[in-house]
Amino acid sequence: MEQTFVMVKPDGVKRGLIGPIITRFEQKGFVLAAIQLRSIDRALAERHYGELKEKPFFGELVQYLTSGPVCAMIWQGEHAVENARSIIGKTNPVEAAPGTIRGDFALDIAGNIVHGSDSLASAEREIELFFGGAVAASAPVHLVAGTVVQH
Ligand code: GDP
Ligand code: MG
Repeated sequence: MEQTFVMVKPDGVKRGLIGPIITRFEQKGFVLAAIQLRSIDRALAERHYGELKEKPFFGELVQYLTSGPVCAMIWQGEHAVENARSIIGKTNPVEAAPGTIRGDFALDIAGNIVHGSDSLASAEREIELFFGGAVAASAPVHLVAGTVVQH
C-alpha cells in the first residue's frame, strides 16, 4: 500500500491544529503508519527542502521550519501521495479551495501549516529522512529518543 510523508509545520503545531489535520486524514480513509513530534535542525530543514535552495525564500523557509516542533507522519492508503496533496490543497492558501486543509486553516504561503510529499520518489526520500524507511502500518511502533522502534 502506498505511503506518503506529511508534516504539520511549526505554525500548525503552535495553533493546535495537529488534531484537526489528523482528523482530515482519518476521515479521508488513510491509515496512520507512524508519527513523531520533534524539532528540526537547520541541516534537516535544508535537506528536506534541498530542491528549493536556489529560491529567494529559502532562508525564510528554513527559519520557518526550525521555529518550533513539527509533527511528522507517515500516512498509508490508495494513491496516498495524490490523495494527501488533494486534501492539503494548493501551496498558496489564497488559491487553496475551501474544504482543503490550507484552504480552511491558512492565510499566507509563508505559513501554510502542512507539508505533503509531491511524488512517490519524494515520499520515499522524505520517509527515509525522517523515519529511516517505510514503517508497516500494522506493526506497533514507538519512538525511543527519536529512533523508530518496531516490534
Ligand atoms: P508544497 O509542495 O505545496 O509545500 O510547495 P513547494 O514545494 O513549492 O514549497 C515548499 C514550501 O515552501 C511551501 O509549502 C511554503 O511553506 C514555502 N514557500 C513556497 N513558496 C513560497 C514563497 O513564495 N514565500 C515563502 N515565504 N515561502 C514559500
Ligand atoms: Mg513541495
